Amino acid sequence: MNEFVLPQYQIGTRLQPQKTLFTFVRDQALATLACCRSLLVVLLLLALAGCASQKSGGPYQLDETLKANGKNSRIDIIVLHYTASTKPSALLTLTNREVSAHYVVSDDSKPVVYKLVDENLSAWHAGESSWYGRTFINPRSIGIEIVHPGWARNSSGDAGPLFPAPQIDAVITLTREVAKRHGVAPENIVGHSDVAPLRKQDPGPAFPWKKLAQAGVGRWFDEAAADKYQAEYVRYGPPDAGWFQKQLKRVGYSVPESNYFDANTLHTIAAFQMHYRPELVNSKPDAQTAARLRALPTNGSGL
Ligand SMILES: [Zn+2]
Repeated sequence: MNEFVLPQYQIGTRLQPQKTLFTFVRDQALATLACCRSLLVVLLLLALAGCASQKSGGPYQLDETLKANGKNSRIDIIVLHYTASTKPSALLTLTNREVSAHYVVSDDSKPVVYKLVDENLSAWHAGESSWYGRTFINPRSIGIEIVHPGWARNSSGDAGPLFPAPQIDAVITLTREVAKRHGVAPENIVGHSDVAPLRKQDPGPAFPWKKLAQAGVGRWFDEAAADKYQAEYVRYGPPDAGWFQKQLKRVGYSVPESNYFDANTLHTIAAFQMHYRPELVNSKPDAQTAARLRALPTNGSGL
């Protein structure tokens, strides 16, 4: 191929003294035309050769001209995490160890979204986990890590540190785009603590799930209905352990049906509170927790 590229356009090609400008330009144009023609012929021959080798070069011929209607994405869950570290540390860990995520949303004033794993591939972010009875979540999910140091209570009892507003805006937009691309249902946009309540606390009670839901990302409970149920439970007492376990299971959590408040059930109640009652995470199966749980919609449609 070099012969078509090199002769007339090398650096250092100069006008020959005996040629006029007109003849030089004419010669250049004719030469270029000749090159193009030759190039076309060669390309045509190569294409024909390619077709021929595709037909005869292997044990089968691949034909991609027909497309089926029955298909959907293999992704039906989005899991949000926080890194519990600084950006440099998180990027180092997520690119050098056997843990990864599809995206990392930085805490810069203009957030950077790092795409570390293609959406068609599995990232190793969820670990041992369960949602609506499905226990092998990595191959069916997108993992989004949010740079944040990890949550703690401040002196007034509030969970912090707060996630910067630009970072949350970036998370909302990114999650919405991913959900739309794969048809992920709102109830299947979850935190790591939702799918691994015995092991994980991220993205923690400082994460503004309600703000996400108000922006059309994820699930929230019917607040008017919850107020009504809460009044009822305050008056007559909250439901028993069996009720909590059935309800937690209804909205996606994996929980034993032991009919008593065992350690796993209390951890799962804490995970529910981190998502839907972040102002008071105490593992207690109280009237307000019961009310919000009952008022949480689900259809399990995505799974
Ligand atoms: Zn996590």
